Amino acid sequence: MSTNVFELDQTYVAPTYARFPVHIVRGKGSLLWDSEGKQYIDMGSGIAVNTLGLSDDGWVAAVTAQLTTCQHTSNLYYTSPCAELAAALCTRTDMKKVFFSNSGAEANECAIKAARKYAADRRGSGCHTILTLQNSFHGRTITTLAATGQEVFHKDFQPLTEGFVTIEPTEEALLAAVDDSTAAILFEPVRGEGGVLPLDREFVNAMVRVARERDILLIADEVQCGNGRSGSLYAYMQYGFTPDIVTTAKGLGGGLPLGATLLGERVEHVFAPGLHGSTFGGNPVCCAGALYVLSRLDEALLAEVRRKSAYVFDRLRGAAGILDVTGLGLMIGIRTVRPAKEIVNQCMERGVLALTAKDKVRLLPALNIPFEQLKQAVEVILAVCAGDSDGTEQRKDG
Ligand SMILES: *Cc1c(COP(=O)(O)O)cnc(C)c1O
Repeated sequence: MSTNVFELDQTYVAPTYARFPVHIVRGKGSLLWDSEGKQYIDMGSGIAVNTLGLSDDGWVAAVTAQLTTCQHTSNLYYTSPCAELAAALCTRTDMKKVFFSNSGAEANECAIKAARKYAADRRGSGCHTILTLQNSFHGRTITTLAATGQEVFHKDFQPLTEGFVTIEPTEEALLAAVDDSTAAILFEPVRGEGGVLPLDREFVNAMVRVARERDILLIADEVQCGNGRSGSLYAYMQYGFTPDIVTTAKGLGGGLPLGATLLGERVEHVFAPGLHGSTFGGNPVCCAGALYVLSRLDEALLAEVRRKSAYVFDRLRGAAGILDVTGLGLMIGIRTVRPAKEIVNQCMERGVLALTAKDKVRLLPALNIPFEQLKQAVEVILAVCAGDSDGTEQRKDG
């Protein structure tokens, strides 16, 4: 049965992923089981997607109720989950309007179009440059690849969309790069794929100052760090400023594909009918799931995220085999003495699923992971990082 899945996948699925040799068959909360019946604690939540873990009862009920009523209408008609979700997002963020899509890359594409339109309306053509940061990640389309400040993703896909300039996240680099053509700055408050790196406060303050002085838009890419993961609903809220545009996706739908581009005061009127669109965007089933996720992301759950975060940082910092720990909330990067891939593989053998981000181990557990399971997973990670052997390392070393 399982062999068949591996064979079928390897024969027919385009080989863009280096999958682990694990066939996941079901999950509940933060526990997963593979086709051999082995149990895992999930410290990756499908890359920050399963905000409430797997098969959460309330989420399943909300999605199922919509699924059995009306699964899709196209954007030619009104549906309530879409309208209610937009209202909930705006009420909780100071944003004014929402465009819905299906992924993080699309949420960013919309933000880029909005920024260029705003600059064209205000300042005429030619003001189209968007500054992005080194070690950022904004998606896999040709335009969001151009925005992604990691050369490794660009190689062999040239020419990419013009008009993106990547800078180091320092005030000096920012001031050197800004000119009359600058339309926007696109940044992740916590760079995820690039190594789980929160932005420095001084740099954020410099961005805010320059943007206000020169009518430049601030676009916060919260595809990964948004929706409660940082310990606040959106990570920008911890930096004390309001972006002009916030993009999000991953954890918003709680496991269904949904992207959102939140438009603030300055850009709320840039779009008119026909300027942008998506067939699936705002799908009622996905929006019903997201509405439920948002309803659970109250102050109590966010406080729990912060408590769990403090616990993980405390346990891991300074431990054997660990060089440093970075991140915010339940978005945590661990620089280890031994290669991150080796650590992740050994954690998997011992029943803990973790991720990597560049050369680090990355943890993105469900926000409601039970404390007991979080502790168990952390103990396994500590043991593996310390090289505490169950035999695997000895075999390798000897
Ligand atoms: C994952 C990610 C994206 C791309 O999202 P997709 O849904 O894979 O298109 C964009 N930005 C950030 C910060 C991400 O982490």
